[in-house]
Amino acid sequence: MRATRAIIHLDHFKGNILSISSKLPKGTRLCIPVKADAYGHGAIQCAVAAIQAGARYLAVASVQEGIELRIAGIVAPVLLFSLPLPEEIDEIIEHKLTPLVTDIPFARLLAERVRAHGTKLAVHIKIDTGMGRIGCRPEDSVPLALALHKESVLILEGCATHLSVADSVTDEDVAWTHMQIARFREAIGSLRSAGIDPGLCHAANSGAIVRHPDASFDMVRPGLLAYGYEPIPGHPDSPRVRAVMELETHIVSIKSIKKGEPVSYGRAWTAPRDTRIATLPVGYADGLPRALSGRFSVSIGGKAWPQVGRICMDQCMVDIGPETDGPERWDKAVVFGPEPALVSARQLADAMGTIPYEICCGIHKRVPRIYRQGNDDGE
Ligand SMILES: *Cc1c(COP(=O)(O)O)cnc(C)c1O
Repeated sequence: MRATRAIIHLDHFKGNILSISSKLPKGTRLCIPVKADAYGHGAIQCAVAAIQAGARYLAVASVQEGIELRIAGIVAPVLLFSLPLPEEIDEIIEHKLTPLVTDIPFARLLAERVRAHGTKLAVHIKIDTGMGRIGCRPEDSVPLALALHKESVLILEGCATHLSVADSVTDEDVAWTHMQIARFREAIGSLRSAGIDPGLCHAANSGAIVRHPDASFDMVRPGLLAYGYEPIPGHPDSPRVRAVMELETHIVSIKSIKKGEPVSYGRAWTAPRDTRIATLPVGYADGLPRALSGRFSVSIGGKAWPQVGRICMDQCMVDIGPETDGPERWDKAVVFGPEPALVSARQLADAMGTIPYEICCGIHKRVPRIYRQGNDDGE
């Protein structure tokens, strides 16, 4: 197998889900997002593990992602977070995915196709309380629910909103989230007053689970936390989680170079002293962003060694120092991962001004995923 691989610690993933559950009010359901190939971790394996750990719902972004879960034999409800094109509606129905509905014209389009299939379909209403992405205005939720009711083939199973700054601790952002939660409560209240059962209400992403426990409602939708990253690093109320993904590779070459000799494209780095350069077969085409060139270290044998020179498409170089008792050819090198790795995806993200989501989602398909269930299943 290729030297570069992503180890997916499913035991951490399940442990994280249990840790999140233990912080929630009893009876709160869990919807685990497995969109974007489960944030790069592998949708099918993570979906199965999430259900084993007690998740009742899964969520995807695209219809295609939902179909892949169904083909793999997953029967749990699958929420569709993004809106489809009209031509995707038949597949939603065939594969019993649960779409979000945001407007009456779409509800009618959906109902027409559901009727043609001679079946019924559960849907959730999406209410935009301040994210500014998809969803009806809060005051339009009653007319929308009434329209669904009229289309007797659509079953209102839940109501959702999404929070835009739940992971921020600034006063303005906390106030914004309180306002979003209040608007959502109000919309649910007006549905009830109109004699409509709103079903399962859900709003909380990872940030809200940590910072806004009053946003738990009937179900929460933690992605980042489940994959092992704290949305607000070091927050005292955060469930304890461990990173699920570990990106490892192996040294495939070591060479000695002299002071002043350049390494990699652009000759952007030259050796400040005589040293040894280890080459790792991992590059930006694997999802190691080129913007990280020279900005991070790699763990080899429990020690951090600086990456030097530009990251290439398929390879990058590490300065392993002049001593000959350092790393050796074929040694394992961990780019990021849970402890004991010395570098986390969060640190890589910080080093280039992005978020850990983007690091994990960016690990390319050509990097094989190796699934680990625990300590006892070996290599
Ligand atoms: C991706 C997503 C989530 C999960 O967000 P995290 O920040 O990863 O917890 C929840 N809800 C919706 C609608 C999403 O798109």
